Amino acid sequence: MSLTRCPNGHMFSTRKHGNLCPYCSISVEPAAVKGGERKAAQQLETDDKTMPYLGEVKGIHPVTGWLVCIEGPQLGQDYRIMAEKNFIGRSEEMHIRIIGDNTVSRRNHAVIVYDPKKRNFYLLPGDASGLAYHNNEAVYSPVELTSYDVIQLGHSKFIFIPLCGAHFEWESE
Ligand SMILES: [Zn+2]
Repeated sequence: MSLTRCPNGHMFSTRKHGNLCPYCSISVEPAAVKGGERKAAQQLETDDKTMPYLGEVKGIHPVTGWLVCIEGPQLGQDYRIMAEKNFIGRSEEMHIRIIGDNTVSRRNHAVIVYDPKKRNFYLLPGDASGLAYHNNEAVYSPVELTSYDVIQLGHSKFIFIPLCGAHFEWESE
């Protein structure tokens, strides 16, 4: 028996009712129904007070943009940017983990922020010793990012690609 929970907390069978909650007629994200159905049901048993941060997609943090490595050991690699703060560094607990470039600080070399209210992105200097560069200028205070800006950390360079912003935003409650 697979149950899905709507954003208002009603549990229902998507096999019976499809994507529409029979109690409040709110539609549940199809991604959650397809991929996260089982996980959602499991989560409900153990910890039904946890609400996902952005909408109803279970187990997936909605991507808001990307960094794509265009120079350095990770050439060609892309990194997902999430809502709010994304700490960048080499260590495992970083949101954006750059491996293979020892000139990137282990922790907090830089921070990328997506502000869901204003729908814009910022690059912030981290508290590590290494500088972050935005279009070849050292970053000392937050700078707003626009598409195809180039960010350099250590010997690695990245292009910034937004998804959210003026053209698109994930629906939130
Ligand atoms: Zn409902």
